[in-house]
Amino acid sequence: MSDYRIETKCVQGGYTPGNGEPRQIPIVQSTTFKYATSEDMGKLFDLEANGYFYTRLQNPTNDYVAAKIAELEGGTAAMLTSSGQAASFYAIFNIASCGDHVVSSSTIYGGTYNLFAVTMKRMGIDFTFVSPDCTEEELNAAFRPNTKAVFGETIANPALTVLDIEKFAKAAHDHGVPLIIDNTFATPYGCRPFEWGADIVTHSTTKYMDGHGAAVGGCIVDSGKFDWMAHADKFPGLCTPDDSYHGVTYAERFGNEGAFITKATAQLMRDFGSIQSPQNAFYLNLGLESLHVRMKRHCENGLAVAKYLQSNDKIEWVTYADLPGDKYHELAKKYLPNGTCGVVSFGVKGGRKAAEEFMKKLKLIAIETHVADARSCCLHPANATHRQMNDDELIACGITNNLVRLSCGLENAEDLIADLKQALGE
Ligand SMILES: *Cc1c(COP(=O)(O)O)cnc(C)c1O
Repeated sequence: MSDYRIETKCVQGGYTPGNGEPRQIPIVQSTTFKYATSEDMGKLFDLEANGYFYTRLQNPTNDYVAAKIAELEGGTAAMLTSSGQAASFYAIFNIASCGDHVVSSSTIYGGTYNLFAVTMKRMGIDFTFVSPDCTEEELNAAFRPNTKAVFGETIANPALTVLDIEKFAKAAHDHGVPLIIDNTFATPYGCRPFEWGADIVTHSTTKYMDGHGAAVGGCIVDSGKFDWMAHADKFPGLCTPDDSYHGVTYAERFGNEGAFITKATAQLMRDFGSIQSPQNAFYLNLGLESLHVRMKRHCENGLAVAKYLQSNDKIEWVTYADLPGDKYHELAKKYLPNGTCGVVSFGVKGGRKAAEEFMKKLKLIAIETHVADARSCCLHPANATHRQMNDDELIACGITNNLVRLSCGLENAEDLIADLKQALGE
């Protein structure tokens, strides 16, 4: 599949049936797998043979879909997780533990921010948050001797900043650590962070990859490029024997191509168990089959709506990186030449009350805590996700009280604009 273009990989990647086998990926709805001898089973437990023994660790349906996502991203190995949150947690915890430190962009998904700043901090991992717009000097100054990774989002949810992936990759590599990119909003159709130097990619597949609001899920992909053994002192978990697996040293046995995902599966999935159900993996694959067709439409609708809003005098400001003049337009042209995504944010003139009134009047666009769905939806963070904050606190995290986040779905753009028009009283 590696010679094919991304559209072909979306449709046919990850699974090639043999003669007489199902054309669509089979849902292997089984918790366990049968073996003839205990020796056969023992080899699997020792990671000496490839195969399935318990669906908490691996399942064939999940592996077909993970293989497709690995092909889409241009990586060497991938695994599915039960959610995007689990993917972010595993990606960091696989290489950082108590006493370690991670540098992260400050404009990241709120759930990820809380995971890092509160929950993982309680586990003894420290995070330094840097602006995605920081200079190279500011970025380099954030590193410490115990730094184990750098983290950022290609297009941040909900800030819609575009990350300068090359700048972050260079700083990470200069300090001997990998760059982990959450590529949820861009999807591999829009941007493949490995081509710009990222080492690990994570996804909330709940968003555009599934694309239909049907299944919560996550994914981690390894580029296979980071040389763990060259930085063995920083990554003992990958570069020294794992006693819980008969002394296997992941980076030696599985190489740069397979060590990260094998360790995350064998240790983290074994112990935390955040596996995606095979049924959800099947739904995810249905979504991936049309990812390229849908993303194109999401971007077209996003741009049409952003242009309409920009031209309307009842709208104070619009943030959408495909708009010429947007603060991130140049970075978007470089990293996302096919378009960014369908999410647009804007401020309604008249403050909190005006934003509330406007949203109440929408008919086609629904109020939801969700984005990146086939159906258009919107959210007023001041009244929902950030409800506990007063206006000053909102501004401190870059959110005005009149901000509306609108996720443009796959409907007709004229119908979306007509709905916005009537809600604005025109
Ligand atoms: C939604 C989201 C997550 C969390 O994913 P879940 O599947 O909801 O756990 C992580 N990162 C980004 C960018 C997201 O939009």
